[in-house]
Amino acid sequence: MAEQTSETPAVEIRRYVVGPIETNCYAVVSRGHAIVIDPGAAGAEIARELEGVHVDAIIATHGHGDHVGGVKALADATGAPFWIGEPDAERATHSGSPGSLGIAYDDDAPMADRFLSEGDLVTVGDASFEVIEAPGHTEGGIVLLGEGVAFVGDTIFKGAVGRTDFAGGSAEVLAATLRRLKDRIPPETVLLPGHDETTTMAAELRTNPYLVG
Ligand SMILES: [Zn+2]
Repeated sequence: MAEQTSETPAVEIRRYVVGPIETNCYAVVSRGHAIVIDPGAAGAEIARELEGVHVDAIIATHGHGDHVGGVKALADATGAPFWIGEPDAERATHSGSPGSLGIAYDDDAPMADRFLSEGDLVTVGDASFEVIEAPGHTEGGIVLLGEGVAFVGDTIFKGAVGRTDFAGGSAEVLAATLRRLKDRIPPETVLLPGHDETTTMAAELRTNPYLVG
């Protein structure tokens, strides 16, 4: 089920596309350790995929059910702690209930073991990622930037941005976040979004109507 999106000798990023609305889940694997970003509706499957690798942490870019529905199964299988931005932690604990799209996802996420905030450094093996707070799609959204990639959750998509009409969304707040991200994310960075295709910051700065100008 893994589809590789990039590989260097020491750091491997795997993508899994899971669930009814095709959420992108990612695992960063390095030196026998992994972090899983947004285990979607496939916690048990991802745990099997990563057998033999120590899962250091499960990280959610935000608290919507299609991203965190699999946290409990993955945490149960691996013992890994769950990290998320604090403003979304409470929402994630209700993620098993039908959301704005009327779809229910696996289980409620457990209460977070750690809250991630601006400037935190997440390391796994040889890889490290900086946390950038990115509210707008939800209040507690985060971006992880490092190793030439950015896990942007539902904040930026190829040619689009995340909806702001779901619980926790604000178009104004998202616009301010996008202005910050234009300065913070280097153009050559590969963007790994929560849905749809991989892109680059340079391509989005050129063509994404929400980022141009
Ligand atoms: Zn979302």
